[in-house]
Amino acid sequence: MSTDGIRELIIIGSGPAGFTAAIYAGRAGFKPLIFAGPQPGGQPTTTTVMENFPGFPEGIPGPQLMQNMQKQAERFGAEIKFSAVTKVELASEPKKIFAGDETYQARAVIIATGSSYRTLGLPKEKELLARGLHTCATCDGFFYRGKTVAVIGGGDSAMEESNFLTKFADQVYLIHRRAEFRASEIMKQRTLANKKIKIILNSEVIEYLVENKLTGVKIKNILAGEITELKIDGLFFAIGHIPNTDIFKGQIALNEKEGHITTTNNVYTSIEGVLAAGDCADFTYRQSITAAALGAMAAMAARKWLEKN
Ligand code: NAP
Repeated sequence: MSTDGIRELIIIGSGPAGFTAAIYAGRAGFKPLIFAGPQPGGQPTTTTVMENFPGFPEGIPGPQLMQNMQKQAERFGAEIKFSAVTKVELASEPKKIFAGDETYQARAVIIATGSSYRTLGLPKEKELLARGLHTCATCDGFFYRGKTVAVIGGGDSAMEESNFLTKFADQVYLIHRRAEFRASEIMKQRTLANKKIKIILNSEVIEYLVENKLTGVKIKNILAGEITELKIDGLFFAIGHIPNTDIFKGQIALNEKEGHITTTNNVYTSIEGVLAAGDCADFTYRQSITAAALGAMAAMAARKWLEKN
């Protein structure tokens, strides 16, 4: 096990929140160490073209946006380790961060570990992601103008995504595993009233049909056991997402329902000197731009803490 000197700031996560925090902290004179985590660049690296990130009138591929953010963070002195944090000790002073056999210490920590979209975990899923299978209608719905798509889920996200997709697609199927929706009444009513949305209840997707690209799905009616095929061009998951906060359990206050980090005043956690930004704490907006904004706030709060202490 190797030990390191005490750093001023460690940032865990390299999505829009983590890199923006690094840019702000770097420009403030701290030399943050960033742990890039299991998915360097975070969720934008799984999207095709991002058309809603301000400053890019023609859109920008998600991976390129994240490479740009990384370069910008490095330009201001950030050091990046392409490894994942496996354990933390946040109550100690300095705070301890473990990555495999390595131990790092810092006075302040920004948690920007993001969240992972829940998917079905069926065969061929990895190669189809962003190529027929999607996790964000706001990001990728535009590519289905005049096409047929399906959304899986019965919560507010599924209602929002299905309605949003009707702006582009000719036909939207909403596939839900039960007969009752979990979504709020207003979202449900809006969805039921939308003539372009056809609802398939008590059903689950059991297989992706592929001929070079996604051509459809096999659906099983849970009540009747009947299996049918549905032709679609794209499938959007809206079956919830999981904040990447497992390693913080028992150390920091987490929202009981889904495990998001509890914050006050946007970025302050239950431990002084530990800030949280982006989807690991935000369950409302979950956009790259809002994560970046929270990253900037977290870096400014960390700076205040470091200067005071
Ligand atoms: P959610 O409320 O947890 O709903 C997830 C849906 O996915 C549920 O209907 C669930 O089915 C289904 N599901 C989960 N795992 C599944 C699986 N393996 N296979 C098939 N279906 C599966 O998640 P959400 O819709 O993302 O909403 C999260 C939070 O954000 C909620 O508090 C929501 O109100 C909020 N939100 C609000 C808005 C808005 O107000 N505009 C928009 C989006 C999200 P079951 O119902 O059978 O469990």
